[in-house]
Amino acid sequence: MTTDHLLSPYQPFDDDDRLVIEHAQGVTLTDVAGHSYLDAIGGMWCTNIGTGSDEMADAVAAQIRKMSYSNPFSDMTGQPALDLAAKLAELAPDHINHVFFSGGGSTAIDSAFRLIQFYQRSRGKPEKRHILSREDAYHGTTYAAISIGGKQSDHSDDFFYIDDIIHHLRSPNFYRHGRGMSEDDFADDLVTDFENKVAELGPEHVAAFFAEPVMGSGGVVPPPGNYLAHISKRCRELDILYVSDEVVTAFGRMGEWFHSETLGISPDIITSAKGLTSGYLPLGATLYSDAIHEVIAEKGHNRYFGVGYTYSGHPVSCVAALTNIAIMEREGILAHVQEVGPYFMDQLGTLSDLAIVGDVRGSFLMGCVEFVADKETGGGFAEGIDIGALVAEEAQRLGVIVRPIGNLNVMSPALIITKEEIDQIVVTLREAIVAAHARATS
Ligand code: PLP
Repeated sequence: MTTDHLLSPYQPFDDDDRLVIEHAQGVTLTDVAGHSYLDAIGGMWCTNIGTGSDEMADAVAAQIRKMSYSNPFSDMTGQPALDLAAKLAELAPDHINHVFFSGGGSTAIDSAFRLIQFYQRSRGKPEKRHILSREDAYHGTTYAAISIGGKQSDHSDDFFYIDDIIHHLRSPNFYRHGRGMSEDDFADDLVTDFENKVAELGPEHVAAFFAEPVMGSGGVVPPPGNYLAHISKRCRELDILYVSDEVVTAFGRMGEWFHSETLGISPDIITSAKGLTSGYLPLGATLYSDAIHEVIAEKGHNRYFGVGYTYSGHPVSCVAALTNIAIMEREGILAHVQEVGPYFMDQLGTLSDLAIVGDVRGSFLMGCVEFVADKETGGGFAEGIDIGALVAEEAQRLGVIVRPIGNLNVMSPALIITKEEIDQIVVTLREAIVAAHARATS
């Protein structure tokens, strides 16, 4: 076996020692050497119903035999895309009844970006073209998506970005940026930041605001106070579209189909992918409101939304999504997450007593542990000590996979995780943190 030919996303060039997985069943991964691991990151926040379902395999195989592909462009489509769009309209907030399919989360975001321009131009407001996002946001890696994202590490000198019409507001990370303040005061500051930027650009120039309901890759950051609800309200008043990026939070991870409304957000557009098919097949969906559709779908003048992908609404992916949703409904997976989600957060919280655990945060089955060298100041480890990677390495040695991002370990297990498996994650993590701490200070 050789790993010489594959360039993996974000693979460090000085370390090609990749874990090669051969088998995945439920929440368990087995590598090519036969070692098993509990997958605490659910693939990439996506294996919601767990891997290896016979029912999914059968449904996908049957669809391949029936119709493995159908043209999705202009005057043709396949029945599965129609069925899935109708199902998503049923599950989404009441005012959202339209869906545009793509191949994943990044293209769902790109499609939203284009839809916004199309909408604003269709209603005679081409000058409404500026986009607001946040520092630390992650929205994918296609050109528009990475530009909308606000992680510093994703805005390196290695690439160009769209920087004339995309603006990043302050990060909502309370632990990092709200020191010495109450959470409500911090939330107010974030709203003020939004208001200031809108005033600077002029609301007549601002097209949309993008935000993950709970920030994921940027550090698992639930919104402080009611800041997103407040911004949603202001967006409505200021005629700015609100895009809720639910690529991670939708389809059960927060115990609901979609999480926006619970947070008091009334989105105009919702982006989704990942848990939509539980990662069985690639699929992205950009869901949008009746109000947007009314404007863009005005008949006549040979108008059309000039965005599309060969695999838009791919019939096999759409059947995978429909089957995935049917399994979630039948197995009561949302109710299960409502029960084990708070347990997961409580158990992770027990790690706070450890010397290098600065913060434990998250919501339902999105969790994160942040490591610091100094709890008092939140100061990090010396240059060259990659504490997140050290803990992840120790956890892997002990049979649990967590995802290191800088000085964080993030977790997003499959939604079928049991309380016993959560205990196993937390016990293992405790041991891994102690071992990594010893290595870091030896
Ligand atoms: N949006 C969010 C919130 C994500 O977390 C991700 C991926 O992690 C994306 C968009 C991009 O999705 P994809 O990797 O399927 O392109």
